[in-house]
Amino acid sequence: MKTDRSDILTCLRESGDYVSGQQLCDRLSVSRTAVWKVINQLKEEGYQIESVPRKGYRLIESPEDVYSESEIVSRLHTKWAGRKLHFFESTGSTNPDAKRFAEEGEPHGTTVVADSQTAGKGRRGRVWESPAGTSIYFTIVLRPKFNPEKASMVTLVMALSVAEAICEVTGLSTGIKWPNDIVVNGKKVVGILTELSMTPELNEIQFLVAGVGVNVNQESAADFPEEIRETATSLRMESGKNISRAILLERILARFEEDYEIFERTLDLLTLKARYESHLVGINAGVRVLDPAGEYNGTSRGISDTGELIVERENGERILVYAGEVSVRGLYGYV
Ligand code: ATP
Repeated sequence: MKTDRSDILTCLRESGDYVSGQQLCDRLSVSRTAVWKVINQLKEEGYQIESVPRKGYRLIESPEDVYSESEIVSRLHTKWAGRKLHFFESTGSTNPDAKRFAEEGEPHGTTVVADSQTAGKGRRGRVWESPAGTSIYFTIVLRPKFNPEKASMVTLVMALSVAEAICEVTGLSTGIKWPNDIVVNGKKVVGILTELSMTPELNEIQFLVAGVGVNVNQESAADFPEEIRETATSLRMESGKNISRAILLERILARFEEDYEIFERTLDLLTLKARYESHLVGINAGVRVLDPAGEYNGTSRGISDTGELIVERENGERILVYAGEVSVRGLYGYV
């Protein structure tokens, strides 16, 4: 039934004009009654659909920020990103869900989307606050053929795609805090967590999951827990506009598909680096590297072709900082 809904919405959306009941039946191989039922359900959910005898149905407007499997799927034009999509109202965390689907053999691009998470994860066992009704939480399954040491670059590719999708949809200018956070006006709006699963011999990648959390429609700082009020923000708080999560998610998946394919061709960031660095915060400015083996200050000189942060020490020595165990701060604050 869900597929019928997505398919009917897709037909109406793609046509932009009247689509006859018969055309819908033929295209989807369902009965007239089934079409009629789905149209009524959609209307009940707030979709404005006009029905005109002998002409058919026309989608006039979708309800504001409707966020459901059908709404997302009916907007997708990707080849593989999100083509297989699982939507949950609530889940623990979309990363373990995606891993489970990958272990069950689901294809490259399979995507898990949730409206809320009860145990959203950040790096190194941290928590990602994941309230319902406001944000995007999704994880995409990738089945790369490259060596494990290339995997950390996927986080940077995702950061770039998400940063640019946000600019496109909201008009906000986004910064990337190397390697995996996106900030707007110095505060964090996106976190990304990439995890690898290796083959039993531990020499090849079995699959990789890239999870993304975006704060979209939180209305004020009071919507965040006290501990992150100073450092977190939402797209709505920064732009003053309510943002459609389905539209933004569609743009993220479309851009990621494109950028990932560019990365896959060379298995480095040569082609994407200039775009990534144009978003990189603190470039040519002082940074503090919070390395568990010893913290130090330096000047950020951008990223290497393989995604490490280049930090120049006072004595001129250039250090390549590998993502993983390390966080980076501006010398005078979070970014
Ligand atoms: P850092 O931001 O300190 O460099 P990190 O990149 O390792 O750390 P992540 O794993 O991306 O951090 O995110 C987890 C951290 O982000 C949490 O420890 C918390 O401080 C902050 N955080 C948690 N939930 C949210 C949220 N919804 N919006 C913004 N920040 C959040």
